[in-house]
Amino acid sequence: MAKKKKTASRRSAASNGKAPKFDRVLVVSAHPDDPEFSAGGSVAKLAKGGAKVTYVIVTDGSQGGEDPKQKDSELAAIREKEQRAAAKVLGVKKVEFLGYKDGHLAPDLKLRHDIVRMIRKHKPDLVITHLPGRAIDMPMGGSHPDHLAVGEATMAAVYPDSRNPRAFRSLLKEGYEPHVVKEVWIPFWTSGDYMVDITPTLDLKIEALKKHKSQVAKPGREWDFEKFMRKRHREVGKKAGYRYAESFKRITV
Ligand SMILES: [Zn+2]
Repeated sequence: MAKKKKTASRRSAASNGKAPKFDRVLVVSAHPDDPEFSAGGSVAKLAKGGAKVTYVIVTDGSQGGEDPKQKDSELAAIREKEQRAAAKVLGVKKVEFLGYKDGHLAPDLKLRHDIVRMIRKHKPDLVITHLPGRAIDMPMGGSHPDHLAVGEATMAAVYPDSRNPRAFRSLLKEGYEPHVVKEVWIPFWTSGDYMVDITPTLDLKIEALKKHKSQVAKPGREWDFEKFMRKRHREVGKKAGYRYAESFKRITV
């Protein structure tokens, strides 16, 4: 009995109470495969709950390989195809590719402008994006420079640019009216303050990740990502009293 109580209180502290409902969700990521690795279980859950989920993939993913002789355009085409297939598994309605060169992002005004256009076009209640700053207590992969750039540009796009009619006024001429985003979720390795129970959708996340064949089965660098992801989400789940969970920092705008 005492044990049950403890688990319940941990869960409510971890998830800030009742799960919110969203009609439209925009996931803004640097590379193909980022949405699945960081939030695939939650994306599937939001889509199953009726949310219209759209992905914005900022770069072409052309540095995600081991062969320097492979043409950028060839790898970019493979990764776009893989990303579309993975999104389909999770119930994502649309994938927008901004086509920036992989590895070359900066959180500049051009990137902000292009993300504001996407926010005003898709009008999300919830935006999921990268952590806008290097975290030295997490694995290095999370702090890829493109992730930091997309995280910062997206946060600035959410506030103040998307809601401000005086920001990027050329977008008004394109027909994109100001829009107010309600929440931002930032995937945190294990120490977020909002845990999503992905027990019912973990298998879908794994299935979606398998679509990114060029990334999870690189010749000479095969790894048992399924075992890795299950272990990781089990560890996160323990903190909230769920079997498997994804961890976020939840920000009300
Ligand atoms: Zn990435």
